[in-house]
Amino acid sequence: MTRILPQDHEHGFATRSVHAGQVVEPLAGAVMTPIYQTSTYVQEGLGKHRGYEYARTQNPTREALERNVASLEGATHGFAFGSGLAALDAVLKLFKSGDHIICGENVYGGSHRLMERIYGNLGLRVTFVDMRDVSNIERAATAATRMIYCETPTNPMMNLTDLAAVGDLAQAHGYLYVVDNTFATPYFQRPLEHGADIVLHSTTKYLNGHSDMVGGLLVTSRDDVAERLGFIQNAAGAVPGPMDCWLALRGIKTLPLRMRQHDASGRRIAEWLTRQQLVTKVYYPGLPSHPQHEIACRQMSGFGGMISLDLGDPGRARRLVEGTRIFVLAESLGGVESLIGHPASMTHASVPPAMRQAMGLTDSLVRLSCGVEDTDDLIADLDQAMRASE
Ligand SMILES: *Cc1c(COP(=O)(O)O)cnc(C)c1O
Repeated sequence: MTRILPQDHEHGFATRSVHAGQVVEPLAGAVMTPIYQTSTYVQEGLGKHRGYEYARTQNPTREALERNVASLEGATHGFAFGSGLAALDAVLKLFKSGDHIICGENVYGGSHRLMERIYGNLGLRVTFVDMRDVSNIERAATAATRMIYCETPTNPMMNLTDLAAVGDLAQAHGYLYVVDNTFATPYFQRPLEHGADIVLHSTTKYLNGHSDMVGGLLVTSRDDVAERLGFIQNAAGAVPGPMDCWLALRGIKTLPLRMRQHDASGRRIAEWLTRQQLVTKVYYPGLPSHPQHEIACRQMSGFGGMISLDLGDPGRARRLVEGTRIFVLAESLGGVESLIGHPASMTHASVPPAMRQAMGLTDSLVRLSCGVEDTDDLIADLDQAMRASE
């Protein structure tokens, strides 16, 4: 369990991206946090050590990453995990059989699978609701409700949840309020400021930003929650290795620069897509035509590089995702390179077809993760692939 350093709150976001949570390395004064590739630490005598005993429990590289992300989200505690789903798994371990969770219906497919198919069997009850309308949460609540779990913007429908409205509701009823902030990142949205108790990240995505590791992170400013998460992190042991922590830490140093470029391209490409005849729908919270654009402007300071589009025809969608040359056909998102995907058969294949249809996740939906390449090149690439898909 890692507390952030006292001075970390004093600086701007970009300064903290580069420096927060990092301490001068004592042996040589290395400017970059070393990869502490060790499983254990010398003890000078029985019970005499420097606060480090065994690397599942403490690792200095991991602690630097935990403090860094905690600082960026405005939290006081951070906990790193081996993946985003391992982070969610730790959250779910806060509960017991019979407890009830209200979850956004359009969360990441793997989050849905973990709640339903693993924790459902262990007695946790989960109701999935459309969180665009906060009253759906109130209607789903029971005496056993313990947590509200939401993702905004959602993947891949780009639906928004009014973070502050849910925060008020969670506080009024004493529900734990957890937000997956993977899409927006703390650069554009900080859920703790809207009442969230825990923020979850797949660091695999924008935080690392270079598609070269898998990791997850939880942050909180609640000491009671932090104590339990720290216990679970150590007791269940789904911790990341130091090399992956170091990669994430290095990636985060350029988070503001990357997010500004993802956002600039995202806005231009979304606008361009609205003018393409073959595109029947564009889902991007930065478009004034997005039904929740007003909420987006209120709780986000930018909209990023994730865009979904519907081509109204599954064959055309297939030809588009197979026809781009710069956009690479792949799962995942948030890297410097642009990716294109087909959610129904890829990231969301584990979501039941009826539920997919109900939320508008059709077989002709295509998802873009706009990277940091030249925007003109990205548009030209989509243009040629779209023409060829006709
Ligand atoms: C990828 C992702 C996850 C899961 O993270 P992993 O690191 O793949 O385990 C959770 N939430 C969102 C929004 C994601 O995109």
